[in-house]
This record gives sequence, structure tokens and C-alpha cells, in this order.
Amino acid sequence: MNVGVLGAGQLGRMLALAGYPLGLRCLFLDPAEDACAGQVAGQIVAPYDDPGALDRLAARCEVVTFEFENVPEAAVSRLAARHPVYPGPRALAAAQDRLNEKNLFHELGIDTPPFAAVSSRGELDAAAETIGLPLVVKTRRLGYDGKGQAVVREPAELEAAWKRLGDVPLLAEAFVPFEREVSVLGVRARSGECAFYPLVENRHRHGILYLSRPRPGDPFTDAAQDWCRRLMEALDYTGVLALELFQHDGRLLANEFAPRVHNSGHWTIEGAETSQFENHLRAICGLPLGETRAVAPTAMVNLIGNLPAREAVTAIAGAHLHDYGKEHRPGRKVGHVTLRAADEAQLDLSLQRLLSLLPG
Ligand code: AMP
Repeated sequence: MNVGVLGAGQLGRMLALAGYPLGLRCLFLDPAEDACAGQVAGQIVAPYDDPGALDRLAARCEVVTFEFENVPEAAVSRLAARHPVYPGPRALAAAQDRLNEKNLFHELGIDTPPFAAVSSRGELDAAAETIGLPLVVKTRRLGYDGKGQAVVREPAELEAAWKRLGDVPLLAEAFVPFEREVSVLGVRARSGECAFYPLVENRHRHGILYLSRPRPGDPFTDAAQDWCRRLMEALDYTGVLALELFQHDGRLLANEFAPRVHNSGHWTIEGAETSQFENHLRAICGLPLGETRAVAPTAMVNLIGNLPAREAVTAIAGAHLHDYGKEHRPGRKVGHVTLRAADEAQLDLSLQRLLSLLPG
């Protein structure tokens, strides 16, 4: 079976690699000539809204998915006229706009930080008044990895935030002094069958994820999975969905969801019975889902900007290096390492060894 994929970054690359053993072939569409999934599978190099390129993709696949949520709606509609597109236009529409996303959470009884839509300087002042400071101001569309965001701690900082971000519609939300950031990954098959990976604890630096650690048996697991299930069912979802949450004051608050495979699920390649990439492909291709349980204590560390020496990483017991084949640039995710160990104490030791190889 051939799977058309919009976007050919590292998520696409790992999807393609997961597909080969199952006989599932990915074909990518991405405007970047050096897109890293194109090193491991076929790629059409063209803009996402190029009708000819979309038709060429459609002619060579039976089902379509995407590896990032900002794909143009028109591209999805054109492909959807010929093939099933999963996770589907409803999930995309909700994930592309932070206000739609937060409203959907609200409708489904999923708790969030207090929020307000802001499209004028007056509305920003009103949000600061109602919600209180500190406030996080975010562009409603096209933000990722902390881009398109400002934290306002003092009334005097409102003007600077407005000047920097105010030329597009915004969302203002309460700053959450969270104890932990966690995520839950769920997968839903075409049949409606759902499965969930263990809750993952995530650490960010400068808005970018750098460490994920699955916590099987975490006391917040059931609550997080229940919300994830509600979202997938409400969206009649097919594929993997990641829900990002803050833990604060003994409860969870939803931050955002990603309608795709997710960085906080990379550990599943070596750390779970079936990886998120394989399960996404199984779901969209109409196959039964694979087991999602963790097979060992695991941690995943992102390699950002550049890679440490291959020899040094591979010398760590239980280390699995993933080099995405991307040009090295500051702030860019260029690879990750998954560490697997017999127990948590050994994992801590390997993690210390790995972190000592990385800058900062
Ligand atoms: P986002 O693009 O919404 O995932 O935000 C990127 C990162 O910024 C999150 O992973 C958090 O570390 C931080 N962040 C976002 N929203 C808030 C918030 N309301 N309160 C505190 N930190 C936040």
C-alpha cells in the first residue's frame, strides 16, 4: 500500500522507516529540495498548493496523511476528493487555530488555563484585567516551539507584546506555574478502536522539547487518557494524536494537541512494543493497532543545533542514535537519542553520560 504524506521532515522520515517492514511505502510532497524524508523515500519537490503536484501525489498513493498541522486547507480538500485523508479536515481545523482548539477543549469538558481571544489593544488590556498577570500571549495560527509567543509579567510589558505580535489575531491565556509538563499519545483505528501510550514527562528549553521520559503507571494516566479519548472520538479521528498538558496544583490543564505523530513519542521506536510511527500507519491503512506498552525504562533526548560525536553516543549502553540527516543550524532539531536500560537507576546513569556530551 502507498501512503502520500504532506511534509518531508524528520517525522515523515521516521514514518517511512516504520512503513518498510510492513510493506507500506511513503511518498512525500514538500517544497524543500533537501527535506530529510526525501533521503529515505520518494519525494515530489513542489509547493503544497501546487495542483499538478497534488494530483501526481494522488495518482501514486491510496491514502494520505501529513506530518505537520499547518498544511493548507485547499491541499487537503483536493486530495480528500480522491483518497481518504487522515486524521481529517476537522482535526486540522481545530489544531491550526489556538482559539478553536481551546474552545473545543472547553466543549469537551477538558480543563485549560483561563483564556481569551484578543484582536485589539483594548482586548489585550481587558484580558490582562480579567485573567490577571502573568499572561502568555500567543498568535492563534502558525506558532510552534514557543515561537509567536510572549510572556507578559507587568502591565508595562503589554505594549511591547502588542507591538511584537498584534498584527495577527491572538490568544491570551494565564501563565501556569506548572510542576510538570506531560503529554499523552493516543491512536485511533479506522474501526474506532483506541490505544494509548504511557504518560510522558517532558522538559523544554527555550520553548523546544529536549527530554521526554515515559512514566508507566503515573497517577495522572487515566485522566489524561480520558481527555485524549474524548478528543479523538469527537473528531472521529484516525491516527496518532498527542495531547500536551500542564500539571499544576494536583490537576491537569490542556495546553494544545497535535494531530500527528509527536516528538514526545519518539521513545516508542525502541521503548514500546509498537512505535507511534508504525501505529499511525496501521491506523490510517486500516490495520489492527499494535500493543502500546513500554518494554523497558526509556528516555529520549533531542539533539538540537548539532550532533555530538557518533562514537561517544554509541559507546553508551542502551543508546540508540537517530541522525535525521539535516543540515546543522542553531535551534534546529537534527536528531535524537533514545536510551533504554534495565532499570530507572541505570537509565539515570546513561542519561547523565549522554547529557554530559551536549552543550549547556
Ligand atoms: P506551545 O507552543 O503552546 O506548546 O508552548 C511552548 C512552551 O511554552 C510550552 O511547552 C510551555 O513550556 C510554555 N508555555 C506555553 N503556554 C504556557 C502557559 N500558559 N503557561 C506557562 N507556560 C506555557
